[in-house]
Amino acid sequence: MTRTALKSASMALKLLSIAVTWRCNLRCTICSIWKQAPSPPEFLDLDRIKQALGHPFFDGLEYLNWFGGEPTLFPRLAEAIAWARGRFPRAHERAVVTNAWQARPVLERLAGADPDLLVCLSLDGFAPVHDARHGQTGSYDEVLRGILFVRDHFRKRPRLSVTVAPGGAEALLDVAAVAEYYDCEVALRPAVRGSYFRGESDVSWTPAQVANLDTVLNRLPDRAKGNLDFTAAIGRFLRTGAHRPCACKGLTGVVDPDGKFRLCHSHELALPIGEVPARWDGLVLDALKSECFKPECFIDGPYALSYLAPEHAPWLK
Ligand code: SF4
Ligand code: SF4
Repeated sequence: MTRTALKSASMALKLLSIAVTWRCNLRCTICSIWKQAPSPPEFLDLDRIKQALGHPFFDGLEYLNWFGGEPTLFPRLAEAIAWARGRFPRAHERAVVTNAWQARPVLERLAGADPDLLVCLSLDGFAPVHDARHGQTGSYDEVLRGILFVRDHFRKRPRLSVTVAPGGAEALLDVAAVAEYYDCEVALRPAVRGSYFRGESDVSWTPAQVANLDTVLNRLPDRAKGNLDFTAAIGRFLRTGAHRPCACKGLTGVVDPDGKFRLCHSHELALPIGEVPARWDGLVLDALKSECFKPECFIDGPYALSYLAPEHAPWLK
């Protein structure tokens, strides 16, 4: 592909995920973020983010996610979410992902800041599985309390974010039961070996575990499968590594708590978010030229955009 052809293919940023802190108040077994030494700064410099994202370059953002670590530990989260509501009023999704642990006071402030916020709560099964995976007795009950609060105080239904681990596929049926009972959406992904933002995972699947996952997925009601196309592709990916060409190159980015921006989470180059508008074409040219797919791309947010329905992402076509 020539440089001219590459340039004509460059696109505008559509999805931005902002990590407000790497601190967390839980100790999940499949996560390594909490095991690492804290790296400064402890929290995002929100004033810097507001200034940078005020640039017209970011006007077309469709998806804005606040995450961490545990984002409810960020003292300025409600302020950030209120600001984003005014800055990106027509975004398809403004979302936050939380483990819900002791988060009720923050959730109350978020409901006031943006009642259209999509609140995603991590849930990995019923209490014995969830509490063991999160390293905290009572964390399952706290998620249920969070679901009830979100249902009553936000306009969008809560979304349950479930990460299925090898040998634990049956827990998906429990999450489906919770979703059905409490009228929640589900977003589903398998844990695999790789790097996730600041963390690392050494999970691997045996053929028998993948076959069992296929069986469980076939038993799940559609409404508990999240994105149907994406979920249908999971078993084949785990068995063979087969995946679609990534449709999100040059469309998605991540901001770390230090204010550095990266295309997706796997590209190594990080630059201050304020420099992105001026350097965008070069960044995208490099991304389009690179073979950047890694196993963790399959399950993480950016690549999953490849499976969004056209009504949610017409710019993918
Ligand atoms: S997976 Fe999330 S909630 Fe669990 S320890 Fe890691 S950052 Fe915290
Ligand atoms: S293959 Fe991975 S790193 Fe490359 S653009 Fe897609 S999600 Fe991003």
